[in-house]
Parts: sequence; C-alpha cells; structure tokens
Amino acid sequence: MYRPILRLSAKQLSCAARPAAVRGYAAHATPQPFNWEDPLNARSLLTEEELAISETAEAYCQERMLPRVLQAYRDEHYDKKILEEMGELGLLGSTIQGYDCAGVSNVASGLITKAVERVDSGYRSGMSVQSSLVMGGIDEFGTQEQKDKFLSKMGKGKLLGAFGLTEPNHGSDPGSMETTAKPHPTKKGYLSLSGAKTWITNSPIADVLLVWAKYHETGKIRGFLVERSECPPGTLETPPIKNKNGLRASLTGMIHLDECPVPEANMFPDVEGLRGPFTCLNSARYGIAWGTIGALEDCIARTRTYALERKQFKGNPIAKYQLVQKKLADATTDAAFGTLAAIQVGRLKDKGEAAPEMISMIKRQNCDRALFNSRVLQEVFGGNAVSDEYGIGRHVANLFVTQTYEGQSDIHSLILGRAITGLQAFV
Ligand SMILES: Cc1cc2nc3c(=O)[nH]c(=O)nc-3n(C[C@H](O)[C@H](O)[C@H](O)COP(=O)(O)OP(=O)(O)OC[C@H]3O[C@@H](n4cnc5c(N)ncnc54)[C@H](O)[C@@H]3O)c2cc1C
Repeated sequence: MYRPILRLSAKQLSCAARPAAVRGYAAHATPQPFNWEDPLNARSLLTEEELAISETAEAYCQERMLPRVLQAYRDEHYDKKILEEMGELGLLGSTIQGYDCAGVSNVASGLITKAVERVDSGYRSGMSVQSSLVMGGIDEFGTQEQKDKFLSKMGKGKLLGAFGLTEPNHGSDPGSMETTAKPHPTKKGYLSLSGAKTWITNSPIADVLLVWAKYHETGKIRGFLVERSECPPGTLETPPIKNKNGLRASLTGMIHLDECPVPEANMFPDVEGLRGPFTCLNSARYGIAWGTIGALEDCIARTRTYALERKQFKGNPIAKYQLVQKKLADATTDAAFGTLAAIQVGRLKDKGEAAPEMISMIKRQNCDRALFNSRVLQEVFGGNAVSDEYGIGRHVANLFVTQTYEGQSDIHSLILGRAITGLQAFV
C-alpha cells in the first residue's frame, strides 16, 4: 500500500526536487581508496586542533614509550617518569580548564588515550587514574583550596594520584564498602580513616590517594584526599600486588588505613553517595572506550604485517588465505565502529549531553570487541604468539583487565538492561 507513495517520492527526488549539484556529485563520484588504518574516515570528523593533538601524542608514545614497554612488562616495572613526561606535553588532566591544564575537547583527550593504549593498557591506566579519576574528581568536587593545592602539580606529573574504591570484599558492589571515616580521637579537626582497598593502580607510589569511605555522621560515602607525606608511620600502608599476569607495565597495590588522621579540609565538601566515585569513573570509562581501540588497532597492524611476511603452503603469505583475512576484516570493522561511537559520545560529552548509559555502552562494547578480536588475531601468529617479542600476547592479557575493571562488562550489561527495561537487576 505504501508503494505508490514511495514511487512518487523517488520520482520527485530523481527529477525536480533534487538540486543539480547533488545530481552531478552522485553521477561523477569517484570511488575513494580504502584506508585499512581508518576504514570509515574518522579523521574527517576531527578538528585541526584534535588532529594536531593526536599527532603529538602518537609521536611521543611511539618514540618514547614503545621502546620501554617490552622490558617494563617483563620486569613488572612502572617508570613513574612517564607521568612527568606526559605532564610536560600537557597530556595529563587534558580536559580540565585552568590550573595549567590544556583544556581540550573530550574527543582530543580520547585521541591521547588511544595513542597511549596503542602502546600498552598499563601506561594508559596510569594516565587515566591520574587524569580522570583523581584530577577529574578534585576538579569536579574539590574545594578551591584542594584544587589550588593539587591540580597544577598533578597536571605536571609532579604529584602522583591513586583512586581507592574497590575493597577486598566489595568490587562490583562498592556501595557496601566497609572503610570508615570517624572523628579522630585525639586530633581536633581531623578524621580517622580505617579500612582496606585492593587492586589500586599506582597506590604504592601515589603521593595523594583519593579514598572513598563511609562518613560517620550520615553513613554515606564521601571522598577524602589522603596525603602520604602527612600520614604518621603505621597509619597508611600501600603494598604492591606482584606477579600479575596482565597490566604488568603498570603498578597495582593495596591501601591499608589504620586510624589514619586526615584533615577535615581534605574531604570533598558536598558530594555524597556513589555519585562521587561514579562521576569520576564515567570519565575514565569513556577513556577506556577509546584506549582499547588503540590496543586493538595495534593488534591489527601487527597481525597484518606478520601475515604478509609469514609464508605457508607453496610459499603463499598466510594473509592470502580467506580465514586469516576474515579475522582481520572482523577486527578492523569493530575498531572502526568503536572509534565512531567514541567520537559521537565525546561530542555529546562536550555539549553536556552524554548519558552515563552511553558510556557504559561504549566501554562494554569496545572492551569486549577488543578482547575478543585480539584473542582471535593472536591465532594468526601460530607458535610465535607465545613469544613476548611479537607484542600481541601482552595486549590480550591487558585487555582482559580492561574488560574487568571500572565495571566488568556484565555489570555494564546490567546497567544497560536496567535503563532499557526500567527494572533493577542488581540490588
Ligand atoms: C589491574 C587492576 C587495576 C585496578 N585498578 C583499580 C583502581 O585504581 N581503583 C579501584 O578502586 N579499583 C581498581 N581495580 C578493581 C576493579 O575495578 C575490580 O576488580 C572490578 O570492579 C571487579 O570487582 P571484583 O574484582 O571484586 O570482582 P567481583 O565483583 O567479585 O565480580 C566477579 C564476577 O562476578 C560478576 N558479578 C558480580 N556481581 C554480579 C551481578 N549482580 N550479576 C551478574 N554478575 C555479577 C562480575 O561481572 C565478575 O565477572 C583494578 C583491578 C585490576 C585487576
């Protein structure tokens, strides 16, 4: 029944209603060459400034970071000079306005994140904790004194941050945390923090630890800036967690607080409940959605090079075989779609129009697809996949972690499911 209307519209479109310029373009359009490194021409959506920032970040990461990562990963070593180098380039806290920070768009900050994670997810984790979780938290919720004291130094990488939310018994469910902030029994104007946090990026070397704890007066979660240099011996311990099988180029540890005195002035003044940590996490999760695509793109490039060079059966490069080509096609498609989705959410974030569920969607999707595809691409390397020299195994191990932290993928499924149905699955 709609056919006559459709036929009429089509006729109108092809004749009078269609401008001459459009007709000419359609008739003479030449097919554009396909760029496997940017299949859907995402670059065309970026501003001049974003392109320049991306090039600066890529150059630093490839020239200065990449040569260090293999040995760092073997030795489970994190070179904290990396944060200082990033600070010198203005890559830390890059979306923050003022305090010597760059104040760039969310898309530009995503491009920086992608460049870093193309080298290693561990380096990106160190940067995300500093920039999104701690600096972002202080910028959003801190007092003016807290901002003046910490943001500029953190932006230069002179002060290192850690973000303590997860506890040994409360990971996906941080609302049940046990860490408390009570009035200090002897020090006036101080609170006493007690409890344990685990799997905390950078905790062993952090100068300022943003710890989330339940405040005695209300029982609600509040944020506290714990300064290591001010903690009396025995009240703050941050032992490293050694022998990880992923994210080995980043440092992870625990936070033990035993009646640790923290000035009341170091508490975030207003924000309470999970809104505080979740706001910080939203920003970091957005970065992870970009970063994991960087890691996936590196897996694609490494696999393509390997498959073109490796010959099996009558001297054919294995890249000639369709099963290998399908693996590359799947991974490249997911990377291209993931990039476009991240740009879209970044643009909405810049306008203040991004819903948290959008970030759950791209964090979950890009992490899952990066992990899945990297595991499949690893197969192309055959036995050589087992050697760390080829780099792909490192990405696979790292991408398991990115899928797990800052809301494991299934938890983001529940967040999306709740938003879609209006029904709460996890209470
Ligand atoms: C290397 C590394 C660095 C980290 N850095 C930090 C950091 O800097 N700061 C910080 O605070 N935390 C950090 N984390 C912790 C991380 O965020 C947690 O590991 C993550 O939130 C998952 O919590 P969990 O490990 O306790 O797993 P659990 O919560 O025990 O979950 C285990 C599994 O059960 C599933 N599950 C749980 N509840 C449900 C449910 N209701 N329905 C369905 N499935 C469910 C989960 O999806 C998951 O698959 C880091 C972790 C790692 C590994």
